[in-house]
Amino acid sequence: MHPFAYLEVDSQRAAIAAARGGGRFVAGGTTLVDLMRAEVERPETLIDISALPMRAITPTRRGGIRIGALATMAEAAADPRIRASFTMISEALELSASAQLRNMATIGGNVMQRTRCSYFRDLSASCNKRRPGSGCAALDGDNRTHAILGGSPACVATHPSDLAVALAALDAVVHLRHVQGRRQVAFADFLVKPGRTPEREHALREGELITAVEIPAQPRPQRSGYLKVRDRQSYEFALTSAAVALSVANGVIQAAKVAAGGVGTVPWRLGAVERQLVGRRPSAELWRTAAEHAAADAQPLEHNAFKAELLRRTVERQLRLVGEQ
Ligand code: SF4
Repeated sequence: MHPFAYLEVDSQRAAIAAARGGGRFVAGGTTLVDLMRAEVERPETLIDISALPMRAITPTRRGGIRIGALATMAEAAADPRIRASFTMISEALELSASAQLRNMATIGGNVMQRTRCSYFRDLSASCNKRRPGSGCAALDGDNRTHAILGGSPACVATHPSDLAVALAALDAVVHLRHVQGRRQVAFADFLVKPGRTPEREHALREGELITAVEIPAQPRPQRSGYLKVRDRQSYEFALTSAAVALSVANGVIQAAKVAAGGVGTVPWRLGAVERQLVGRRPSAELWRTAAEHAAADAQPLEHNAFKAELLRRTVERQLRLVGEQ
């Protein structure tokens, strides 16, 4: 492992000041330390923020919920308010990683985790994300698990987080703190598509700290859930996934929020599916016709054309599961 300096901090201010020199924040360490062992990541300084008081999960005055960036995945998944009112969040968390990892990994770290593209972790392979300008081995290689939405000639890696798909569906907001102050970024703008700069994956400025993720109040009544399709039933990343929230009143769908995972370079909001649903009465035919729009913009690679049909079926099934609860 590349040598690095290790610094523990006891305040947000100290963390942000330390990060100005290019240090990297670490808390659970479940992704970053793995990548450091593989020498994919070689930070000069690790800033341990795990002692900072950013673990609370608190309701907001307007009926939403704010999850501290250092809350663990297990803590958030078990929170009774999240389970009751934001069910897709707890389901996405419980379908992620292993129980051991969920006890260590934090909410902030989860949305910052890096791609599982095998070439990214193979130092002998060309990878624009790891080494800008070196090429992308996945384009002509084994791209079965890669993106069919949002890719570019530079990179077609999927974003691996299940939680991020649910946060995208529910219009979450990321709270950030920087040396110049605090700001909030809509989750839809937080993770960025690769374009020509796949090494840039998020909207964070250098030294900026994620302090919390906030999910706004949702239309009531609302049912929601998360469905994940993968090669094996546990400890595996999604081939496709669907986060669905429906608000139904007087027999008519008043609001619909649908996002997909495992298929995009970022969590993919399915606006075309949502538009098919709003104002209509739930029915098996509606789930099927709405899901037809899920993969309309897909651009499959040589080995992952199956994902387009799998995405349609995943979305249809999850619409049915949530819509007929
Ligand atoms: Fe690297 Fe992205 Fe290509 Fe994978 S898909 S090899 S992460 S550039």
